[in-house]
Amino acid sequence: MSGDTTSWTVKDVLTWTTNRFRELGIDTPRLDAELIIAHVLGRDRVGVYLDLLRPLSPEERARIRAMVARRQKREPMAYILGVKEFYGRSFVVDQRVLIPRPDTETLVECVLERVKPPASVLEVGVGSGAVLITLGLERPGLELHGTDISSGALEITAHNAQQLGAQVHLYAGSLVEPLEGRRFAVVLSNPPYVEEDASLEPELSFEPPEALFAVDRGMAVIRALIDTAPGVLEEGGWLILEVGAGQATETRALLEASPWVDAFIQQDLAGIERVCGARLGA
Ligand code: GLN
Repeated sequence: MSGDTTSWTVKDVLTWTTNRFRELGIDTPRLDAELIIAHVLGRDRVGVYLDLLRPLSPEERARIRAMVARRQKREPMAYILGVKEFYGRSFVVDQRVLIPRPDTETLVECVLERVKPPASVLEVGVGSGAVLITLGLERPGLELHGTDISSGALEITAHNAQQLGAQVHLYAGSLVEPLEGRRFAVVLSNPPYVEEDASLEPELSFEPPEALFAVDRGMAVIRALIDTAPGVLEEGGWLILEVGAGQATETRALLEASPWVDAFIQQDLAGIERVCGARLGA
C-alpha cells in the first residue's frame, strides 16, 4: 500500500492486509482485515465482499492504513474498532477498560440464576460496564451499583449505560469501600486475577494492568473481596466472582469457611472452572 497512483480495489487491500497479518502470526488474519475494511467502508463484512472490485479513495486507504498499522503492533481489534460485543449488545471500549471476554458471560448467567428483582446489586470493578449493564437490561427492576478505582473506566461505564438505556449508580474507589454501610443482595466481580509474571500474548499489554494483574499468584484481589464483601451483603446475599483457570478450587475453599454457605463452582463454555460463589450465612 505505498503512495502510488494505481487504483487499489477492496480486494487488493483485503489480500494485502490478510497476508501481512498472517506473516506477523496474528490469529485471525482475514477476519481482522475484513473488520477493518468494513469499518472504514461503513458496511458489514458481507458488504466488503459485495464491493470487492470497487476502487478505494485515497482517504479510505489512509484510514485503513492507520488501523492496519495499529493491528500490526498487536493492538487488540476491540480498541481499534472502539467496540466489543458482549451478551448480544455492543459496548464502547478503549484502553481505559478491559475488553469484555465471552468467558465472562458465565459470570452474568450465574448472577441471573440467583437474583430476583427487586434487588440491589453491586459490581466491583465495572470497567466498560458490560456485566452490570447486561444484568440490568436482562432483569429490569434490579438496582445497579458499580465501583471502579479508575475514573477513566467509570466515564466509559456511564457512556455505555446511557447509550444502552440502563440506569447505573457509579462510585470511584477501591473494592467495596465507597459503599460501606450499604447492603446488597449480590456483590459480584471480575477482578484482576492474572499472575504478574505470567507469559502473555502481546495484545494484553494494551489493556489496563490494574484490571488484569494481581499479586499472590493472581489471588490477592479475590481474597480481598472474600474478606470485605460480608460488610456490604445482606444476610443470605451472594458473592459471585469470576476467577482464572486453576484458581477455582482455592477460591471455593475460602468460601467454604464461615461466614459463607452454599459455595459453588461453575464452568464456562470452554469447560474451565470460571465462576465461584457463596451466600453469606445467617
Ligand atoms: N480473562 C482475562 C484473561 O485471561 C483476565 C481477566 C481478569 O483478570 N479478570 O485475559
